[in-house]
Amino acid sequence: MDVWAAAVVEVLSTTCVAVRYQGVNVCGNSLTKTDDCARKNQHRKQASLAYCGKQAQQLRKQKDRERRLKTSPMPSNPALEIAAVEELQKLGFLNSCPRRCPHCRGTLGQWSVRNGAEVYVRCVDNDCRRLVNLLTLQSWLPTCVRLGRKTTPSKLLMLIRSWVATGLGRAPSAYNLARAAGMSFKPVKAILQCLQELESEAGRRLNDSLTLRGTVEVDATSLRCVRVYKSTKRFGTPVRTWLAKHPHTPVPMYWLLHLGAVQRSDSRKLVVRLLEHKVVPAAAKPPPEATAEILQSKLLDSVQKNATLMADGARSWTAAARISGHRGDTKHVSHSKAEFTKASQSSKTLGTQLLDRTWGNIKCCVPPTLASRAKQGLPEQQILQYVYQALWRRNIGAAGMLQHLGALAK
Ligand SMILES: [Zn+2]
Repeated sequence: MDVWAAAVVEVLSTTCVAVRYQGVNVCGNSLTKTDDCARKNQHRKQASLAYCGKQAQQLRKQKDRERRLKTSPMPSNPALEIAAVEELQKLGFLNSCPRRCPHCRGTLGQWSVRNGAEVYVRCVDNDCRRLVNLLTLQSWLPTCVRLGRKTTPSKLLMLIRSWVATGLGRAPSAYNLARAAGMSFKPVKAILQCLQELESEAGRRLNDSLTLRGTVEVDATSLRCVRVYKSTKRFGTPVRTWLAKHPHTPVPMYWLLHLGAVQRSDSRKLVVRLLEHKVVPAAAKPPPEATAEILQSKLLDSVQKNATLMADGARSWTAAARISGHRGDTKHVSHSKAEFTKASQSSKTLGTQLLDRTWGNIKCCVPPTLASRAKQGLPEQQILQYVYQALWRRNIGAAGMLQHLGALAK
């Protein structure tokens, strides 16, 4: 306890010194460049006021409002909208024949363009005759009437095309696409959310069904670190377990929490499982995966029994493979000896280099701005959504992504 308390005091005192040093520096300057320095000082005062408490919240909100400001709209005409509808129908994002009228279940007639850009269908029932926006009839789109008025077929097509344009990289944010399409933020966000759900659901199914063969690389990584404190409720159990295991170690001020996942790779074929949260003291390395955890994750069930496993030196993989009845070899390189790849007699290079690249790619698909302490829903579920999406995209490849996404929306 004392050791940690002392360490913290030391850190605090260094910060104080740094601040005072800056102050001295400014005063020194003020003798020569009074005006400039006064302005600098003023900025500093404003900055410190603006970055705390309620003002910080207001500032954040204002920044967000500015980011959401609508840009000038894209040009449009009825012929363009009709062409966009036909293209969306061909891809599968719009139903080829509109379904029944949502009000009277009657038949819907031909579509027509109104207000210059919105495509409507009219109910042929003589008592109803209601106009229905084509975009509100799709099962994969958010089923709110407003969305039909906030977007048009040509904008929807543009959004979908830009959404898949990043290929295996991180999908573009709703802020960027809203500005590009000249739309307001919320409908764009709602559409992108639906697209992401389609992709990550497909990725989850793929992850559950895929069986890996041949040479399989296995490894664990940490997808996100979160600071947790002794008083935590959500992570109370792992923190208490850690305390029970380390009775003589000084109590750390906070723990870092590792959201782990385990996987294999043949470039396009990848299987990921979520491990239990791990609690480690601050600044510690991520802990190696334990045998029990590997068995619990059931990752090896997705690997063919006679496949060769390539691991990065965590011996638990050998034990887990033996216990789960795996018949193939488990080969290791030793990271602790700075050995990352190794030539072997069987003409296959040992090591997890392919998987390490894949991890990097998957991590870059999880946006750094994603809140780790979500107000609603579990953060790991949100992160997994991005991971499954990356998995699906990796399996499909960048070229045919638009067609495959259309098939998912059908
Ligand atoms: Zn009707």
